[in-house]
This record gives sequence, structure tokens and C-alpha cells, in this order.
Amino acid sequence: MKKRAGLSLRKRLLCVTLVPILLFGIIIIACSCNQLAKSVHQEVESGLQNVAQSAAYMFEKEFPGEYRQESSIAEMYKGDKKVKEAVEILGRLKEISGADITIFYKDTRIVTTIYDKNDKPIIGTKANAVIIRDVYKGGTERFYAETSINDQDYFAYYCPLYDSQKKCTGMIFAGKPSHYVSGIVLEGVLPIVTLIVLATLAMSVIMWQYSVRLTNAMKNLQDFLMKVERGDFTAELGEIVEERKDELGRIGKSAVQMQCALRELVEQDSLTKLYNRHYGEIWLRKVIEESAGKNSAFSVAIADIDFFKKFNDNYGHDCGDLVLRKVSNIMKKNMKRQGCAARWGGEEFLLVFSDKGLEESLEETQRIADKIKRLRISYGDKELGVTVTIGIIEGDPQRNMDELIKAADRALYEGKESGRDRVQVGILEADTASD
Ligand code: GH3
Ligand code: MG
Ligand code: MG
Repeated sequence: MKKRAGLSLRKRLLCVTLVPILLFGIIIIACSCNQLAKSVHQEVESGLQNVAQSAAYMFEKEFPGEYRQESSIAEMYKGDKKVKEAVEILGRLKEISGADITIFYKDTRIVTTIYDKNDKPIIGTKANAVIIRDVYKGGTERFYAETSINDQDYFAYYCPLYDSQKKCTGMIFAGKPSHYVSGIVLEGVLPIVTLIVLATLAMSVIMWQYSVRLTNAMKNLQDFLMKVERGDFTAELGEIVEERKDELGRIGKSAVQMQCALRELVEQDSLTKLYNRHYGEIWLRKVIEESAGKNSAFSVAIADIDFFKKFNDNYGHDCGDLVLRKVSNIMKKNMKRQGCAARWGGEEFLLVFSDKGLEESLEETQRIADKIKRLRISYGDKELGVTVTIGIIEGDPQRNMDELIKAADRALYEGKESGRDRVQVGILEADTASD
């Protein structure tokens, strides 16, 4: 389900970027092909016009006089020369220009460089009706981009030929096969097409990589936010988002800050910066569970500031808050690597020693109590001292959280009763479950 959503975003990204690139490429190719074809056609047209006019001039110069037909086309004369001898001139012109040339008497081919399948010149055949109408009868020179001669398409230029009385006696044709012209167009177009295709491919690859990186980062951010939503405040944002300097990177940073703020709200006591009671309970339950699984020792203690009310009563609430913060700092620092210190409520604290038996935990607790006792708190011109009473018990994973807390609380009460400023060891009595 999630995967499909990621892919669809990637697809959408590719669509909005690649489709315009592809369309742009196609339009550029179409326009440049069209432009190139036009200029090649124009060049071919003027080239053929030159060839046709040169052929007409040379033919008239070498074969002056009027047409005379003896018995057949093959026996045609112009002046005193047989017209079929003109094939030599046309052949030379073809060699120079690459164009086929044909001379028409009226509408019929009488000399040509075009040969049929049997290698015979196609003399005696007629021009098509449109050309006869335009050139022979109409008396105008014309260029045709597609005309069929001997079952082959030609680019053709036709000029009318006149006798001494200015009467149209025939036509001259200069032409090149269409495939030859298409070849020139193709040769010109190929580098452009290759360049555009390569550029489009390169852009597509870049866009693909970009969208993959973007959607992966978005997926990572989404996973991170979903973990935070489920209350996982240890979730880490991936480097793929953290390293980004763009808007997504900034959203990632905000998400991490939001995670920290939420964590503080949910886990931390705002006055003392210790874990709050809710998180202390979560921690203790986790330790009980781990201890049951690993068969490891743990200890639970409840600490209470002695005569705390006096700070409030004698110096004000702010002084009481300051004492709470100073005492909390010592607990936080000293419990850092051995468990958890949480504000249980008012001036009471929960200390949980993970992986520690009673003996070790008792030593640590005493050390903390001593440090608190040595503490001097400056408030105005006063130097205040403070002590705590702590009740501690060895944990038992078979007992639930409430039983353990009650046992530690009972030890604390005993400590208070027997004079305060001490660490009192309690026991988990068999009947504590029914308390
Ligand atoms: P004991 O030695 O028997 O524990 O005496 P105590 O004075 O410490 O205990 P008591 O329960 O009589 O008074 C606790 C006082 O702590 C009462 C309450 O007003 C005060 N208190 C609770 N929370 C806060 C707090 O966040 N700030 C301040 N300044 N005072 C608080
Ligand atoms: Mg109290
Ligand atoms: Mg107290």
C-alpha cells in the first residue's frame, strides 16, 4: 500500500518532467527536419534548373536547326544531326551534375540518360499529362517535387524548348531520384536527431535519479513521522533527508525538533528537567520486563526532600522551586548511566537502578544522598542546605510496579520516622501484593 503511494508520486513526478521534455524533443526534431528538407529541396530545385538550362543551351548550340523526322523517333534529326547523338552531351552533363537529363520532342522522350530494367533508354515514352499541360502547352518552366518516371519518383525540373519561330517544339528535363534527395535530408537530420535524442535521454536519466532521490527522502520522512506519531521518540531521521539543503531538508529538521519538543512534553518534567512520573512508570515497567527476560537484578528507590515545606514557608515558592531543581540536577547527573531518575510528584523522586543488585544500588543511593547533603544553595543572601530520605528495595521481576513502589515507599516512611536524612533499606514482604 505504502509502496504504491511512493511509486505513484515518482511516476507523477516523471510525467510532469519527462513528458514536456519528450514533447519538446519531438517538436524540435519535427521543426528542424522540416526546415532542413525545405532548404535541401530549394537547393535541389535551383541546381536542377541550372542543369536543365545548361542542357538546353548546349543542345541548341550543338544541334542547331529544325526537327526532322525520317521514319521513327530513333531516326529523328535536328538540323543535319541525328538527335540520338546528343546522348553524349547529356552523359557528360550527368557526370558533372549527377542529374538525369531528357530531351522531349513535343511530349515524347527522344534522348535520355534514364534507362529501363533492360538497360534500354526510355525513349519514345511520354511525359505525364500535368507536365504536358504546364510546360509543353503552357510554355512555363516548372519544378516538381514528386513525379514518377519509369516507376521511380524524381525531383524534376522541366523547361520548354522553342524553334526559330518561337513555337514550342518540346521540353528538357533535369531530375534526381527522390531517394537520393531523401538521403541528403537524412544525412543532415541524423546528427540533429542523435543530438536531441541523447540530450533527451541524459535529461531523462537526470530527472529519474532526481525523482528517485526525492521520493526516497519523502518516504524516509514519512516513515519517521509515522514512528513519532506512534510515540517512538527514539526514531532517527535518515541521512537521506538530513543532508538535504532544500525545503525537504528543512522540513526534516523541523520534524526532528518537533520530535524533541513532543518528547519533552510527554517525558519530561518542565521544572526539574527530570523524567516525569508517566515516563518513570514506563521505564520501571520496562526494567521489570527486561529483568524477567534476562534474569538480571534491579533496585527501586523513592526519595523525598526533608522538611521541604520550610523552604516554601520561610523563603517563598521560588526558593522551593530552586531547591527542587538543584536536588534534581544531582540525581540526573548521577543516575545517567545506571538507570532513571524521575520526579514522582511534589518533592518526591523515583530512582530505578537497571542491572544492579541492592548492595551496589545502596552505595550509589548513599553517594547521591551525601552529595545532596553537601550541596549549598545560594538564595539571596542565604546559603541553604538540604537533606533527603530515601527508601530502597531490591527489585523482583515477579512483582508488579505498584508492589515495588509501595515497598520502597514504606521504607521511605520508616526512614522519615527514624529521623530522616538517611537511606532506608526495605523488603518486599510476601503480603505486599495485598496492600
Ligand atoms: P517531610 O520531611 O515529612 O517530607 O516534610 P515536607 O515538608 O518535605 O513534606 P510536606 O508533605 O509536609 O510538604 C511538601 C510540600 O511541597 C507541600 C507542597 O506545597 C510543596 N510542593 C509540592 N510541589 C512543589 C513545587 O513544585 N514547588 C514548590 N515550591 N513546592 C512544592
Ligand atoms: Mg513528601
Ligand atoms: Mg518531604
